[in-house]
Amino acid sequence: MKRIVFVGFRGTGKTEIGKRIALHKKVPFIDTDEKIEQKTGRSIPDIFHDDGEKRFRDIEREVVASLPSSDVVISTGGGVVADPVNMEHLRADSTCVLLTADLVTIEQRLTKKPRPPLTGLPLREEIAEMIDRRRQHYHAAADFCVDTSETSPDDAAKQVLMLLDNGVSTDQQRKTALEFFKTGRIPAPSLQALEDILTGINRDPQTRILGVAGYPCAHSRSPHLFNALFSRYHLNYHYTWFEDPELVEIMNVARAVDAKGLSVTIPFKQDVIPFLNEIEEHAAQQIGAVNTVVFACGTATGYNTDWLGIRKPLVALKGSKAVLLGAGGVAAAAAYALKDLDMDVTILNRTPQNAQALAERFGCAWAPWDAFDRIKPDLVVNATPLGMQPDTRSPLAEKQITGEMTIFDLVYTPPVTPLIGMARQKGCRTITGIDMFVHQAREQFYLFFGIDVPEPVIRELVT
Ligand code: NAP
Repeated sequence: MKRIVFVGFRGTGKTEIGKRIALHKKVPFIDTDEKIEQKTGRSIPDIFHDDGEKRFRDIEREVVASLPSSDVVISTGGGVVADPVNMEHLRADSTCVLLTADLVTIEQRLTKKPRPPLTGLPLREEIAEMIDRRRQHYHAAADFCVDTSETSPDDAAKQVLMLLDNGVSTDQQRKTALEFFKTGRIPAPSLQALEDILTGINRDPQTRILGVAGYPCAHSRSPHLFNALFSRYHLNYHYTWFEDPELVEIMNVARAVDAKGLSVTIPFKQDVIPFLNEIEEHAAQQIGAVNTVVFACGTATGYNTDWLGIRKPLVALKGSKAVLLGAGGVAAAAAYALKDLDMDVTILNRTPQNAQALAERFGCAWAPWDAFDRIKPDLVVNATPLGMQPDTRSPLAEKQITGEMTIFDLVYTPPVTPLIGMARQKGCRTITGIDMFVHQAREQFYLFFGIDVPEPVIRELVT
């Protein structure tokens, strides 16, 4: 039997429901908090009080790493999900069930079972604060969700068993979804895999789907990358192409197949926003674009990881004088990233009004395209499609590039664009669109699964 792991805030019923599932499946039940107490010979409040939360988390990580890998039901501590190493261990060859409950219910349950305070706030405020802080991690950890607010442990256990046996979507929903996928340009082996997952006689109801949403998106590298990562981390997921000119069709299918998440690409990064229940507070809202959607517990949450993919390779250039070429969707993410690194940014664009509008949003300067030579930047970021296959043009002429500049071309097909080729000949430090893709994909995987993939692993898979 595949391992079943319960995650969720304390007071959501992980132990009570987990024990019932273990009894039903005739397998052992393990509570990680109990294991920690057995291992240390001390109570959890004592560990928190004497050694602090960090020491507790270290012991918890050791316990999680030592858990059996099959034929067991596990209940975890409420904060286990925030540690990516824990997530790597708990998610492998397992089905993770997230239990939730409303604030009042959790408060009532916790009043009966006092535990060490985590914030010093009154109980209800602490619960709200901690759930809010951990929401992204809980959603990343969830293969299935059950709200236990108004159910007895017996009924909640029945719901969990139903989900494990049947999944969420109906036969009809999965059949209709398959028809949708057949209209896309999905390669035959991937379409066959989808058919097996959605309507195959031996289908595994616990296999979940993710995909890239765009039009066109058949060229996307994400399916190859994500499916390779699923094998590496033993995740029961399949990543495919949601290619359609109508975003509403894509979102309907994603919900019908109970998709875990979407990587959103052109032309939907702005259009997807009205379909979401929540948007990550800062970056995605300010950039006005979402490239990552995580579905969990009936909600769709939007994030932007493009800006992180641009920011990461530039951290050492904090405070530089930068020119940003282009004023479209990705340029907005770049402007946000460059300003986040305290750079002095001037935006140049083919249509100057668009440069002005973007500059005003992010507190940058703007200028006509031919002002480049007088700016003398340390850094140039190309956020136009110039140089993207089959285009062989460069946004800058050779004589405009000098060896002291860092050149970051966000275009990643080809990996060495005409601009990057010229810059390398001039001895510039260069950063390619592949670098951006690697970093943004790493962040996206973390949002989907809570696992932090080492950068070289992703780089090897995309190059
Ligand atoms: P977009 O919203 O369509 O914006 C394109 C920008 O480029 C606009 O400012 C446009 O200027 C300008 N532009 C278009 N054609 C041009 C031309 N022939 N000469 C000069 N300027 C031109 O596109 P986007 O979504 O921002 O994507 C831009 C590029 O980023 C893509 O082509 C892609 O290669 C790259 N990208 C890379 C990654 C990665 O992970 N590495 C991810 C996403 C995108 P106007 O305002 O005048 O129209």
